[in-house]
Amino acid sequence: MTSERLYTKPTSVQEALQTAREYKNDFAFIAGGTDALVNKYQGNVDYNCMIDITGLHELKQVSVSGNDLSIGALVRLDDLGKFGMITDRFPALVQAAGEVASPMLRKSATLGGNVLCENRCSYYNQSEFWREAVGYCLKCEGDICIATGGKKACFSKFVSDTAPVLIAANARLEVHDTDGVRIIPLEAIYTGDGIKPRNLSPTSLVTRIVLPLTTEYQIIFRKLRPREAVDFTSLTTAVSLDKAGLVRIVVGGVDPKPVVIDGKKGEDKDALVKKALSKCRVVDNDYYSRNYRRDMMQLFLKESLDQMW
Ligand SMILES: Cc1cc2nc3c(=O)[nH]c(=O)nc-3n(C[C@H](O)[C@H](O)[C@H](O)COP(=O)(O)OP(=O)(O)OC[C@H]3O[C@@H](n4cnc5c(N)ncnc54)[C@H](O)[C@@H]3O)c2cc1C
Ligand code: SF4
Repeated sequence: MTSERLYTKPTSVQEALQTAREYKNDFAFIAGGTDALVNKYQGNVDYNCMIDITGLHELKQVSVSGNDLSIGALVRLDDLGKFGMITDRFPALVQAAGEVASPMLRKSATLGGNVLCENRCSYYNQSEFWREAVGYCLKCEGDICIATGGKKACFSKFVSDTAPVLIAANARLEVHDTDGVRIIPLEAIYTGDGIKPRNLSPTSLVTRIVLPLTTEYQIIFRKLRPREAVDFTSLTTAVSLDKAGLVRIVVGGVDPKPVVIDGKKGEDKDALVKKALSKCRVVDNDYYSRNYRRDMMQLFLKESLDQMW
């Protein structure tokens, strides 16, 4: 590993992986940069090398191959609605992307960057000065979780808004790494540990998000945030129903990972909502209180299920 500062813009996946190997844990892939650069300049992460992947044009394609819809990791959130196949088959994905951040940010932010954006917490996503004054927590070299008043685990929130919809539609990720290429279910990359929320190796490059076209999904997306125009989520829900009557509930913003509950149409709705509530480890690390977010989660899920059957 070298400590020299570097900005590089590879033109192939192999070149990007080669540089990633050289810089190991001291680099970041930069797609839209709307999460990675903010975290760097706020002092939450540091690295010497920026690998700007926006020159990897094959990651900007949307195509249909066999029974799959393939969306390149670099497709911008603002552009998802320009593809007929996405708007026709997955309108909730376009809706979720359209509720990320603000109009200007969505012109740079990518779908790949969104599913990989960093977890957040109101005690951690602050300036260095603020964190030093309050005291450091587990996520920044302290020894307790401040949000929970001293627990030894981190509950930073999972905040991607597109991931719940993608998981509700059984999306998979194509990941290139030093040991080759693999396709994995999207939900499998999230660990539930707020300190290290994803289990991908640092050199993993996500190239495509793959959605199945073999079944049709009805998906209802809801998001709670203080200001409609710019804020991160306080609660995101996506509920899907497929042609075979399978129901999937995915909840973001209330646990270090997206919480997933599977059921069937006709099942007791209150029992499904209760199951989702019991799995979410909501703590007071958001603009809204823990109790308010739990109440809103019940409301969002109940209304979504009522709308569906
Ligand atoms: C004011 C503000 C409000 C925001 N509001 C929201 C919100 O409401 N909802 C929300 O979901 N997000 C929000 N965000 C976060 C961010 O803008 C989005 O998540 C955005 O989609 C990130 O995409 P990006 O392309 O900019 O990712 P980047 O910042 O480029 O990257 C994000 C992370 O993913 C990694 N990465 C990116 N692409 C790849 C790849 N192909 N392979 C491997 N690693 C990769 C990067 O190294 C980095 O760790 C907000 C950000 C700001 C500044
Ligand atoms: S949940 Fe606790 S440990 Fe995690 S970032 Fe917040 S205060 Fe720190």
